[in-house]
Amino acid sequence: MVLSLDLNTLDVVPGTTCPLQPQVSLAGFTSYRVGGKAEWFALPRTIDQFAACIAWAGDQEMPITFLGAGSNTLVSDLGLPGLVLCSRHLRYVSFDDEAAQITAAAGEPLPNLAWKAARRGWRGLEWAVGIPGTVGGAIFMNAGAHGTCAADSLVAAQGYTVAGQPVALTPKNLNFSYRTSSLQQKLRFVSQATFQLQPGHDPREVMADTQAALAQRRATQPYHLPSCGSVFRNPLPRTAGWLIEQTGLKGFQIGQAQVSTLHANFIVNQGGAKATEVLNLIHYVQSEVEHRWGVKLHPEVRLMGEFPGR
Ligand SMILES: Cc1cc2nc3c(=O)[nH]c(=O)nc-3n(C[C@H](O)[C@H](O)[C@H](O)COP(=O)(O)OP(=O)(O)OC[C@H]3O[C@@H](n4cnc5c(N)ncnc54)[C@H](O)[C@@H]3O)c2cc1C
Repeated sequence: MVLSLDLNTLDVVPGTTCPLQPQVSLAGFTSYRVGGKAEWFALPRTIDQFAACIAWAGDQEMPITFLGAGSNTLVSDLGLPGLVLCSRHLRYVSFDDEAAQITAAAGEPLPNLAWKAARRGWRGLEWAVGIPGTVGGAIFMNAGAHGTCAADSLVAAQGYTVAGQPVALTPKNLNFSYRTSSLQQKLRFVSQATFQLQPGHDPREVMADTQAALAQRRATQPYHLPSCGSVFRNPLPRTAGWLIEQTGLKGFQIGQAQVSTLHANFIVNQGGAKATEVLNLIHYVQSEVEHRWGVKLHPEVRLMGEFPGR
């Protein structure tokens, strides 16, 4: 069944209550604080608005890019053509007490989810507290930390094709592996996800463990500067951070993009960095690590848009 589309819910005049605007800077919508403008940008608050936006883009034959919290994304300085559809206002959380399952909309921030579960004494999402992404982005990336990831507790998700057709997303068809899902090959919008948790714990203990996970990350990672978290996937058995640090690259800088002095797998924006500076630093780190260790590092961060000379 195709979603019912009410184009009257859309008004393309900026400054109205409309969710659709032209020429919006994406630097304000990414955790790197870099990137050019979206040709069109939409922040739908409901699935009907979302459906109307993708129908509108379809009519204009525009490309569509999905964006969550922009916390694993490097957007080109040249911006993005077509429509950027950002899920961060698609928010709700519901609990199924009998099944001990939590269902959240695409734009729900992972830390919120972790805290809400902890307050009920439900275990299973403590790992997510330090990940500043959305539920949709976490499914796309199979985000994880502390040896746990989204795939470990996902029961089911709902999605839409770029034509607005609903699709059921299951752990099987999402084909999860390390920081990967099938969505990275086949474009689908994740509209909500349901996670299985373990109830019946003392909320004070779960909250203390959640707080400890956050504190540990804040002590070892540069949360005070704009970044995308880990830039490279870990080429196990070594970690990318260890390889980069042993190559002597901590603190190395191109323009305003710097290999963090706190955690070598982070590249931080020291203020006013360009996306090209971040990408040039990514390439430099890759080539130095490969030269020293014979290991090719693969980026975890998603590049969006055109990067001249890439
Ligand atoms: C300080 C910091 C710490 C971090 N720590 C971790 C960590 O410990 N573990 C970890 O795994 N990651 C970590 N990250 C990276 C990031 O937070 C995760 O990858 C997160 O899951 C990305 O979610 P997002 O909503 O920000 O996605 P975005 O960056 O907005 O998008 C990432 C990709 O997902 C796609 N996408 C987003 N939403 C949807 C949707 N609803 N449907 C379909 N596709 C979608 C986008 O098209 C894009 O390709 C960290 C980032 C920062 C800044």
